[in-house]
Amino acid sequence: MSETVGGRLAVVGLGPGDATWRTHEASDRLAAATDLVGYGPYLRQVGTLGDHQVAHPFPNRKEAERAVFALELAASGGDVAIVSSGDPGIFAMAAAVVEELHRANNSGRWAGVSVTIIPGVTAATAAAARIGAPLGHDLCLISLSDVLKPWDVIERRIVAAASADFVLALYNPLSRHRPWQLQRALDAIGCHRSPETPVVIARNVARHEESVSTLSLGEVDPSSVDMRTLLIVGSSTTQAFTDRTGRSWVYTPRHYPNSPVGSRD
Ligand code: SAH
Repeated sequence: MSETVGGRLAVVGLGPGDATWRTHEASDRLAAATDLVGYGPYLRQVGTLGDHQVAHPFPNRKEAERAVFALELAASGGDVAIVSSGDPGIFAMAAAVVEELHRANNSGRWAGVSVTIIPGVTAATAAAARIGAPLGHDLCLISLSDVLKPWDVIERRIVAAASADFVLALYNPLSRHRPWQLQRALDAIGCHRSPETPVVIARNVARHEESVSTLSLGEVDPSSVDMRTLLIVGSSTTQAFTDRTGRSWVYTPRHYPNSPVGSRD
């Protein structure tokens, strides 16, 4: 199977939703692909496929299998796109593909396949753009999913990031199988932040039924959050205000208290 000439594999970031938030390179590779591999809902996000294209939907958790399948298809001459929402390098398929390349490095399996990672707009920057600039200063991106890493590692990182006054972008906040993790995370953050800290709750950004709102840390109710939601928890310097038209803004200044105001970039 893998002895043939070898095609190419693009690990494509689809962006958060609407195709206008996708890079040209991503769109070009999606249009050229003979085979598209991905979690079912992400394949639907690609849009209508051409007659020359075949979709290969996979269940959400089969990441290694998905990566091997895509590499095999490419090795047999396919022009393959494996898709992730947002950026493929952030809690998504790029790491699984590169890990399989590493694993196969000594055997030369897939040596003929040309692999490209195509970045995308990740949920955190998409959500931030909707509300202003909450990521204007140092930040940590943390996934609350304890499917692939133990909860105590997650909690340790949250406590470290919160105590170091990073803005936190919380991915995978909660699901039917993980109902308590978000409240635990908020409690841990609350030990280092005031209850007035702005929290952006962004659901389905750049998709149908988008909603983006701002609450204070003390007000966040996990029962209103699901897997399509990203939370941005401000640092001690993050500000929220409503302008004269009623629009809400959140931003984290680039300067820190006691630092000279202004910067060169
Ligand atoms: N690779 C993706 C992240 C995958 S993890 C990226 O870079 O964005 C899946 C999590 O991302 C979801 O549980 C949610 O927290 C967040 N997410 C992805 N797309 C989103 C969107 N359009 N709106 C809000 N959150 C989103």
